[in-house]
Amino acid sequence: MDHGLRRGRLAERLVELELEALIVTRLPNVRYLTGFTGSNAQVVIAGDGSAVFLTDGRYGAQSAHEVPDLPRTVVREGYPRPLVEACRTLGVARAGFERRALTYEGWEQLTELAADLELVPIGPEVERLRRTKDPDEVALIERAQGFADLAFETVVLNGGLREGVTERHLALELENAMVEAGAEDRAFDSIVAFADHAAEPHHHLTDRELARGDMVKLDFGARSDGYHSDITRTVAFGEPDPRMREIRDLVAAAQRAGIDAVRPGVSTVEVDAAARSVIAEAGHGDAFPHGLGHGVGLEIHEAPFLRWDGGEDLVEGMVVTIEPGVYIPGLGGVRIEDMVEVTADGRREIPRSTKELMVLWASPPTT
Ligand code: ZN
Ligand code: ZN
Repeated sequence: MDHGLRRGRLAERLVELELEALIVTRLPNVRYLTGFTGSNAQVVIAGDGSAVFLTDGRYGAQSAHEVPDLPRTVVREGYPRPLVEACRTLGVARAGFERRALTYEGWEQLTELAADLELVPIGPEVERLRRTKDPDEVALIERAQGFADLAFETVVLNGGLREGVTERHLALELENAMVEAGAEDRAFDSIVAFADHAAEPHHHLTDRELARGDMVKLDFGARSDGYHSDITRTVAFGEPDPRMREIRDLVAAAQRAGIDAVRPGVSTVEVDAAARSVIAEAGHGDAFPHGLGHGVGLEIHEAPFLRWDGGEDLVEGMVVTIEPGVYIPGLGGVRIEDMVEVTADGRREIPRSTKELMVLWASPPTT
């Protein structure tokens, strides 16, 4: 990862914004710009590309090898004062800060100390840079997805669905399989939802036991060097309700339409509409209450967001999910989700897990 190149890109943008520096306090943005992987750090990037990195005493040694190319300050107090001092060190009189990252309390402290330093709230500028991935980033996302694909095969397709297994236990088995395969962690709290529980798009795990005829919705992912993966599959344990089969086919058709709409230059609103219209035409528009997808990278949910509002054009190098769903209270729900890389001539689907409706049934032990 070329962090210097990224800081250079941000510095160019600062000139356009008429800022002399940006105070970066959102941790994924600090990581993107410096390579630091710990849990507390800030970085001030000046318009000429120079920068000061700040962390606390727990991370002195770690930051020395992760961020060898920047002047580092190990702070002994809360961050407002050291940040203002860093701006002074860089000779900055007008600095932006990330408005979504600062608390009201932080703002009060910062303005109290700022004196002659002018502070300007700015939008998600680093997140904007992060939308398009370089090949190294795509490779890490793909690697993370490989761990999830392997877990799906070894657990779900290989007898893991069995009478009496609980949602909680199945989630744990998937997560263990990902880490066994080489993932550094799971990407987020896995969603495993049996039967009518799947009618909640983001169901929380319970101790419900799997029963024959249940459809199972699994939304999970792995992390590799900080980069996330995200996939949803819906499978059946024994023959499902015919209404659920129909819904599955509808969601699969909607997802196909969404994926096929992905290419550089197309608006995220159009991609959302391509999938949403398939579901709406079948009379289930109200049963698809969330956006079609989101970017994936150093955060599990990041720009661009594919929704019916707030559109932006897709650009080569973006990695986005396409994840339509239909949720029927009391009956069940289906979501199918894949990460797609926007390529020069269209798109490339990253996961290799089958999205056919797998009807799995393991006989209970006879002893
Ligand atoms: Zn997901
Ligand atoms: Zn997702």
